[in-house]
Amino acid sequence: MGTSVNIIEGSQVWVEDQDQAWLDGQVLKITGQNAEIDCSNGKKVTLNLSKIYPKDMEAPAGGVDDMTKLSYLHEPGVLQNLKSRYELNEIYTYTGNILIAINPFQRLPHIYDGHMMQQYKGAPFGELSPHVFAVADVAYRAMVNEGKSNSILVSGESGAGKTETTKMLMRYLAYLGGRAATEGRTVEQQVLESNPVLEAFGNAKTVRNNNSSRFGKFVEIQFDKHGRISGAAIRTYLLERSRVCQINDPERNYHCFYLLCAAPQEEIEKYKLDHPKTFHYLNQSKCFELVGISDAHDYLATRRAMDIVGISAKEQEAIFRVVAAILHLGNIVFTKGKEVDSSVPKDEKAKFHLKTTAELLMCDAVALEDALCKRVMITPEEVIKRSLDPQSAAISRDGLAKTIYSRLFDWLVDKINNSIGQDPTSKCLIGVLDIYGFESFKTNSFEQFCINFTNEKLQQHFNQHVFKMEQEEYTKEQIDWSYIEFVDNQDVLDLIEKKPGGIIALLDEACMFPKSTHETFSNKLYQTFKSHKRFIKPKLSRTDFTIGHYAGEVQYQSDQFLDKNKDYVVAEHQELLGASKCQFVAGLFPPPPEETSKSSKFSSIGSRFKLQLQQLMETLNSTEPHYIRCVKPNNLLKPAIFENVNIMQQLRCGGVLEAIRISCAGYPTRRAFFEFINRFGLLAPEALEGNYDEKVACKRIMDKKGLKGFQIGKTKVFLRAGQMAELDARRSEVL
Ligand code: ADP
Ligand code: MG
Repeated sequence: MGTSVNIIEGSQVWVEDQDQAWLDGQVLKITGQNAEIDCSNGKKVTLNLSKIYPKDMEAPAGGVDDMTKLSYLHEPGVLQNLKSRYELNEIYTYTGNILIAINPFQRLPHIYDGHMMQQYKGAPFGELSPHVFAVADVAYRAMVNEGKSNSILVSGESGAGKTETTKMLMRYLAYLGGRAATEGRTVEQQVLESNPVLEAFGNAKTVRNNNSSRFGKFVEIQFDKHGRISGAAIRTYLLERSRVCQINDPERNYHCFYLLCAAPQEEIEKYKLDHPKTFHYLNQSKCFELVGISDAHDYLATRRAMDIVGISAKEQEAIFRVVAAILHLGNIVFTKGKEVDSSVPKDEKAKFHLKTTAELLMCDAVALEDALCKRVMITPEEVIKRSLDPQSAAISRDGLAKTIYSRLFDWLVDKINNSIGQDPTSKCLIGVLDIYGFESFKTNSFEQFCINFTNEKLQQHFNQHVFKMEQEEYTKEQIDWSYIEFVDNQDVLDLIEKKPGGIIALLDEACMFPKSTHETFSNKLYQTFKSHKRFIKPKLSRTDFTIGHYAGEVQYQSDQFLDKNKDYVVAEHQELLGASKCQFVAGLFPPPPEETSKSSKFSSIGSRFKLQLQQLMETLNSTEPHYIRCVKPNNLLKPAIFENVNIMQQLRCGGVLEAIRISCAGYPTRRAFFEFINRFGLLAPEALEGNYDEKVACKRIMDKKGLKGFQIGKTKVFLRAGQMAELDARRSEVL
């Protein structure tokens, strides 16, 4: 990105550093291509000139509110700018139209209050300090003025602040588009109150975030022709199902389980509940409480929010009854039965939980036991009931728990949507996307695969957009631009989603074929993608595979891919709960559509997700996008700690650096004529004599210094990467 031609002995520079990402220092000596640098922390290093970037000595101490105002647009400059702003609690910074938000991990006073909203309302973009409200305001104005839909895409890793940002955006949009308070519930109130409801059922404490959303969300706010909110729709993506049955210390299960265990005594008795530590689904982790949060209080708050979004008292009773049933279900422990490979509830306690589960789900206890411990086998000759061993029965139990929970979650989303209501006449909408960022862990399974697939899609959308904006600016200034290359990730997308032949298609095939195992699936991948440049077979594994994502390589463990991709409900479970005497429970298990041909009806999580993403991209493509990149400054979740290397990595993954790179490939520095002349006029004083023309003067300054490749637009000078630094170097010689 940078250029080293203007680095001389005595120059202030940035050098790459393993621990700090970038260190500043002064060049002591240059020998050939190497420079010896005295770093400000006392270190002395010798580096190739190509690894050194000039430091802008005129950068204001408090940073600039837009990265494109930086004279030197390179990695260390970007990092330094964010850092000096963060130290002053300026958590927001623009990079052109992209808003970068660094999580403060503390409530900053007044930055989201009513007075702030008032200030941002209608203010021209860039006039006030960078803010989420400013982004929402531009989106809203654009929609009202141009009658075009807009979307705001919020991204970042877990704990970076996406969900909080989304909530602020929605509050601000509700403020702009809300009606004067009439009696009863307004659409905007319902939209806002859908958050606590969805969070109670879809959020959990993880090591990365105490209130981590375990699903993706796209909220579409519809507006009428007067710019008033007239409807809304919430779409959710891929709820993490495994968490219902399996958690690791010190994480927690979904909040709703703990909320219910902290409910008023009457409910505790009715649902036969106890302390969370008595339930298997909760006591796999030692964490039961969250610091600073009262589950008892949040239980009541959730019930109130449910009232507002239109969930009736009767439905609320059924919802929490089902939540309680899942807890009891998890406590049904099995042991070997009398017959070979059979299982029965282990003891009186297990029998009590079986009976309670059946009561709460309003189904027959014997039928429940059968559904968990037996499978019906249909052979050409007869129908036999085969017993399951205790381990298989436990798997069957957990499968049932996950199915019930995910159906409950989907029910809530549908209910909220129906109750808020859609406005079929609405022509404009503002969509807000809060979706998981790129993930790369020690072990990566099917979930990470889907999440990273999502991010590849969004990255492509982002690149194309940034690229387009860049070109539009050049056109507006009527300057020539030649085609700028950018890294297109279409090849990764093909690898994953191409039909036929992509990884998802091969996975579906494997799932349909009864004899497949993860070994046969992996082998198929190795054969098919032997020479694909984004696919790698790791040397030390026989079943892992690695994908070269735009944000880095991720090695996936394939062993659970097949199971996790299969999207079917065991027929016995379906039959059991479809026959529940509770209308609500039976409603979660409607009779499955008649199967005509097996293959055409085959549905998998992967394919369904791919389809959902396709629809999302279509929606996004029909809108004017705005991007907010959330950054998590440290992994301790604490205020005022700015970890350079960690942040740099996120800027890379979030495409912020790619956006900068795209603009660097063109003309990264733009200066209005008068600004340029003020700073560099002294390089060619003769150009400024008499009644000079600004355009001509700028050109003469550049020509005199022998600079090439720059452009003179209608109002600005467009400089190539490094030219600003070069001019500064000439300027300091004169000064
Ligand atoms: P994500 O959705 O990206 O995983 P969250 O939005 O849940 O992350 O944020 C994680 C935590 O960080 C929040 O619970 C909150 O404590 C803190 N946080 C995030 N954004 C802000 C903000 N703008 N102001 C104050 N605290 C914030
Ligand atoms: Mg979140």
